[in-house]
Amino acid sequence: MSGLFGVVSNRDCVETLFYGTDYHSHLGTQKAGLAVFNHKLQRSIHDITVSQFKSKFAEELASFKGKMGIGVISDHDPQPIIISSSFGNFALVMNGLLANRDKLIKEIMNRGSSFSELSSGEINAVEVIGKLIAQKSGILQGIENVLDKVKGSASFLVLTKEGIYAVRDKFGRTPLTIGKNEGVLAVASESCAFPNLGFRTEKELGPGEIVLINEKGLQKIKAPSNKEKICAFLWIYTGYPASVYDGISVETVRERCGANLAKDDKIKADLVTGVPDSGIAHAIGYAAAAKIPYRRSLVKYTSGYGRSYTPPSQKIRDKVAKMKLIPIKEVVGGKSIVICDDSIVRGTQLKNQAIQKLWRCGAKEIHVRIACPPLMFPCSYCLSTRTNKELAARRAIKKAFGEKTLPLEDFLDYKNCRYQKMVEAICKELGVNSLRYQSVEDMIEAIGLPKERLCLYCWTGKD
Ligand code: SF4
Repeated sequence: MSGLFGVVSNRDCVETLFYGTDYHSHLGTQKAGLAVFNHKLQRSIHDITVSQFKSKFAEELASFKGKMGIGVISDHDPQPIIISSSFGNFALVMNGLLANRDKLIKEIMNRGSSFSELSSGEINAVEVIGKLIAQKSGILQGIENVLDKVKGSASFLVLTKEGIYAVRDKFGRTPLTIGKNEGVLAVASESCAFPNLGFRTEKELGPGEIVLINEKGLQKIKAPSNKEKICAFLWIYTGYPASVYDGISVETVRERCGANLAKDDKIKADLVTGVPDSGIAHAIGYAAAAKIPYRRSLVKYTSGYGRSYTPPSQKIRDKVAKMKLIPIKEVVGGKSIVICDDSIVRGTQLKNQAIQKLWRCGAKEIHVRIACPPLMFPCSYCLSTRTNKELAARRAIKKAFGEKTLPLEDFLDYKNCRYQKMVEAICKELGVNSLRYQSVEDMIEAIGLPKERLCLYCWTGKD
């Protein structure tokens, strides 16, 4: 996952670009980059694995000048990339996952193009998009080429001398929103970037929609399709609480998820708590619906640690998770606790960094409530960090049923006894008194979009 921000202004845009990009820092922990256009393209990319975006770019910011710019916080590839094509130079940032990446690379190479390699030996996926654009005789034909050829998803911003082309992926799995201020237009993955920079939301791009923003304003280049499959996980975990997608607030969806979890839950607890940050709104919703006090049992020392499952190495993930959450013994001791979290991916962090800390502080009982169903399938569209065998649900199935091949559908239906046995195995592994997940149906109801417009692949394995 990556976060994109672009701005076109009637004055220098660099400060807005800097802060707007920074508001996407929760979406990536590897690389960050900025590019501006001022007669020619100027670009800088930094590694943000150890230091945050702001500290990396603050000093060189004075050397940037321009009225148009794009920025990115990237979880994998270095970007923006700059491509020289027959129709001019352009800078490019991208959020997505190319499921047919190897095929695309082969096709591009067969046409005589070559790639620069990353130090890891992998080819940069953003460069693949850039080459697909440059293959054609004009920018729009190039953008259409990307939308036609990419399997998976790719939302991207292209900075050219005529403005910024903003393109949302074909099925709208990842969002892009346009913001407007006097004389200034911006585009962002996260609409939470807008209010403090003085922007109001002008429009959200639809699936496959293309717009151009420049000093003349917003030009609609290609209308959206009606085949939307927006990522449901945005509301559950990856999105920022103050953002809105398809007109629906992340925070309020999380509160509704919590309320759904409280429905028919018979647990008599002393307090409800959330795993910071994204478990908090789920817990607030649960506490309000169950009429149990919400209290903070774990606090995050600094948001500077970022997300703990995005860094690619397990060692770094564990270290980050261990350091950032501090339990409050005076809240936890002797209490029966309901703890809400967004999801269980591997389960190790929830266990080691939240549950065990609560037990060590003297919790009497711990009941875990999870805002989405068990994750059963790795994402092929925007998150690259999971594999089948890492998922807690898959491991639990193996533990409970051995190597027997059983129909996966049985584990997707919460009323099925095999599903219940799988959840019991995860509960045992976590070492808690009880564990419940929200059902797919309740999660869809909490989001409030028709099922057909949501990507639910993580949980159902169906497109
Ligand atoms: S597979 Fe999951 S994470 Fe990926 S786009 Fe679909 S809902 Fe989102």
